[in-house]
Amino acid sequence: MSSTKYIFVTGGVTSSLGKGIIAASLAKLLQARGYRVTIQKLDPYINVDPGTLNPYEHGECYVTDDGAETDLDLGHYERFLSQNTSQANNVTTGRIYQSVIEKERRGDFLGKTVQVVPHITNEIKERIQLLGNTGKYDIVITEIGGTVGDIESLPYIEAVRQLLWELGDGNGIVIHLTLIPYLSAAGELKTKPTQHSVKTLMESGIKADILVCRTEREISNEIRDKLALFCNVRREAVIQSIDCKTIYEVPMLMLEEGLDVVALKKLNLVDYKVPEMSQWKAFLQRHENPKNTVKIALIGKYVELQDSYKSILEAFIHSGAANEVRVEVTSISSEILTAENVFDKISHFDGILVAPGFGERGIEGKIKAAQIARTHKIPYFGICLGMQMAVIEFARDVLDMEDANTVEVNPNTPYPVINLMENQKDITEMGGTMRLGAWRCQLKKDSLVYSIYQQDEIAERHRHRYEFNNQYLAQFEANGMIASGINPEKGLVEVIEIKGHPWFIGVQYHPEYKSTVTHPHPLFVSFVKATLDCQKKKSESQLSI
Ligand code: GLN
Repeated sequence: MSSTKYIFVTGGVTSSLGKGIIAASLAKLLQARGYRVTIQKLDPYINVDPGTLNPYEHGECYVTDDGAETDLDLGHYERFLSQNTSQANNVTTGRIYQSVIEKERRGDFLGKTVQVVPHITNEIKERIQLLGNTGKYDIVITEIGGTVGDIESLPYIEAVRQLLWELGDGNGIVIHLTLIPYLSAAGELKTKPTQHSVKTLMESGIKADILVCRTEREISNEIRDKLALFCNVRREAVIQSIDCKTIYEVPMLMLEEGLDVVALKKLNLVDYKVPEMSQWKAFLQRHENPKNTVKIALIGKYVELQDSYKSILEAFIHSGAANEVRVEVTSISSEILTAENVFDKISHFDGILVAPGFGERGIEGKIKAAQIARTHKIPYFGICLGMQMAVIEFARDVLDMEDANTVEVNPNTPYPVINLMENQKDITEMGGTMRLGAWRCQLKKDSLVYSIYQQDEIAERHRHRYEFNNQYLAQFEANGMIASGINPEKGLVEVIEIKGHPWFIGVQYHPEYKSTVTHPHPLFVSFVKATLDCQKKKSESQLSI
């Protein structure tokens, strides 16, 4: 057995308490104290991965370098740690069963009856230890999705119980995240739901070592004492997690509460260093003291749920801080944009971002938004589908290709400027079959995108089926839309930009997945800067009138 230590994070009382943020914050502090840490999420649903889920179900689907389509919490892990995750960092019940059933079909179980205990629980334990066994980490934090007591999380809880026993004292601990509700009629914070959820965990044979208590109000010493006594944890292991303005404050709050120190002590890691959080604090300082505000329109079709575009919104927070501006993002449903209203609805923004997406709904609105940005010289950032929309708009309006389209929307278009790649044509299975993960991209020297990255070659993450149709490339380039980034293996267009426009870039990949607190993504940083310039220019021209 390796010497890796394990921290399990469970949730009680309700969902959406922010287990992912607590796990990421603790990991950040441990990393800042010099430990090699990674975080893993176990999701109890039966989908093999969230790639086939509508964003309204679980928010954005996050993509890793190795092409895993994962839960959005992995985005938080990467943003907090500035460290890549992989396929092994997200496991679903679907994936566990798929693997056990494949083994059963191969005859690996030698005639045994295949059961939840031990076969499913063994598979879960293996997946948990996979990261630890690489020898790359001192500590692995495993977040168990769902809420204790749910039928579907039972095998995970049992696997954790067994693993804690196998690891032995001081090698694995459990942090239980709960809610301390405030009853305004009684004027009191209530501990009973927490007591019950700790009890539910105990019924499965797991004792919480640390309680992290989500609360809207300060938890008094008296309540902390009560929680410690009735939930069977040490007084110092009752950690308050009070609501705060931004998720990026949570690591500092957890540091104040001593979450990392309590965890380290319980893991017998007493030789810890002072945490190095200066870059993090500098980011918070800039984030909280912006000198200006820029207004950006985010045009998409899943606008009712903020989580659908999580990584984009977070990338704006990172890049806003880098520019010392507050980025005010207004989500606009592309379905409401028409030829008549689009100018009034979006031309007053300092920048326009057309979001990724799938299917026909809202497509025409996105194309019109790209047109306003191009013709009125408003900074435009098209991501994946947003790039494809800019290409279609240019084809229709500049190249006179009436009805140009993507074959995703119109398979019979006379101008399929966005086409399906040959190797995608025979695919019938939808799960995990897109162009996924990191692909190389070479940048053209005299382009805007090159001046932003300052690199000849980059690698960015993909998640799409359709591509720029190279048959039309010469025509586009002759008329001012340049392919400034190309994948060297397949010759696929990765970046387009418009010469003479202050900032008009479309990327076939998803830069938002790689933006982190300490390494804000250069394209987002540059786009925000361009929106600020655009705003300044507008106010100067108004003054001179
Ligand atoms: N639907 C488009 C494609 O599959 C764009 C996907 C996206 O925006 N992620 O190519």
